[in-house]
Amino acid sequence: MFCGKHNAREGPVIQFLNVKPNDQFTYSIVLIRGQIINYNHRMGVTHLQIDNENITSCIESAEITTDGKFKVAVELAPGMNHLTFQFCCVTNAIALVFNQRKNPHYLLRIFYIICQNHDGHFQTKNNADNSIECACEKINLAIRMVQCLYAEMMTKNGFARKTFEFVKCVPFYSSLSIAEARQWDQNQLWKHHAKEILAQENDTQHRYKYFGILASTLCENGTIKGNTALGCGDVALFGSGTMHAWPMKFAEIQRCFQDDTLVDGKLLMNDSNGRNSIGGCYATALGSLTHEIGHIFDLGHSRDGVMGNDIDYVNRMFTIEKNPRDLPRRQISKCSNNLKQDISTGGITNNRRLTTIKKSNPILANYHCRRNDDLTFLTENCAIMLNAHKWFNQTDETETSSSSIQYDSKRKIIESMLPLALVEIRSKESGMCMQYYRFDVCSATSAAVADPFNFTIAGNVIEQNYDLIAIDKNGHIMKWSS
Ligand SMILES: [Zn+2]
Ligand SMILES: [Zn+2]
Repeated sequence: MFCGKHNAREGPVIQFLNVKPNDQFTYSIVLIRGQIINYNHRMGVTHLQIDNENITSCIESAEITTDGKFKVAVELAPGMNHLTFQFCCVTNAIALVFNQRKNPHYLLRIFYIICQNHDGHFQTKNNADNSIECACEKINLAIRMVQCLYAEMMTKNGFARKTFEFVKCVPFYSSLSIAEARQWDQNQLWKHHAKEILAQENDTQHRYKYFGILASTLCENGTIKGNTALGCGDVALFGSGTMHAWPMKFAEIQRCFQDDTLVDGKLLMNDSNGRNSIGGCYATALGSLTHEIGHIFDLGHSRDGVMGNDIDYVNRMFTIEKNPRDLPRRQISKCSNNLKQDISTGGITNNRRLTTIKKSNPILANYHCRRNDDLTFLTENCAIMLNAHKWFNQTDETETSSSSIQYDSKRKIIESMLPLALVEIRSKESGMCMQYYRFDVCSATSAAVADPFNFTIAGNVIEQNYDLIAIDKNGHIMKWSS
């Protein structure tokens, strides 16, 4: 029976758009999108309530758009979760299952990096908690959001909800003094910290990639020191400058995204692409984390999406934006060549490349026209890469690596023992994907499905200087640089 607010024959119905009953998740923060059929916002009920009976005191509220759509992040407890969605006088229940991957072999390790002669407190508003414990909590929550983002972005490309697994954040005590850290530029910081992390970890099995947040970041009268946002090789680093804006608990996420409180850029770091708000800083931080972590999962740059210019709109994925506005377009650029020197990683030397995102001149800025889209997505090549990637799959530890991918650069032929999943040609200059080939269906450039064992790159697509990356279906990667 419907209440007096609805037409007796055509009452509201709650529908889920991206989840089905008993869907399985390997991560605990899950995005649910849905719509209310026969919704009429003039009836005055503009929110629905979500209750997960497996997590006590978790009653959430989600705003409904005028056309009846909603989206909300929910937290799942291990095992089966029974969620009830209530809108006005109607309810719809759904069961979702959260089972973490069992003994994942490949993991992302998270460090909160503390320099010498520093107490590890990050910069924040007066009296707010900025302890090391608080930092680790905030970082863990942010990484769980990034896990969810990757899984959801994979589904936008038609893949299963795959994502990485991580080890909870712990402090990492650096040999670098805080005084030096605050004088160094981001490349110097990345080099030093990446080197000491890889040396300490001595990960001879190559099971780990590393994400570090620098406690050293400081905003002094609008000048940012001890900061970096770089992902390269196996190590991504990010400054703690906007951590003042990040939530510590799941229940605070939605409020944080919608928090319009102004950030005084003289006192605290304000990296929000012109929004100057707490919510803007949080959205940009999550987008940047996603971007830099993407690099250590071997993604290059794309024209748009999170590996391109669109790193500021993560809030649109999780909440309804009250006053959506177009932000100045960012420009991705390569920041440095001087990191090309190899860093020894227990006998393995990797050619590490550094990239960064830089704001474009606002006067020349283009504006996004796809207003209604949340703009947070992976381009097809990035999704194909991650779908095969070892960190995104339950890879068997005992798998003997009897695979190889060879590139004959003279004849432009790639030979692989296992079927190739993706071949990408990137500009050496910007790390931008110039051309890619997939092997399951026809590429845009050819009429036939390419041979996944023996592939020849057409001569006209290669510039003089290029990087080549190929991944096979089991996630073995070959990189080649001209
Ligand atoms: Zn009703
Ligand atoms: Zn980048």
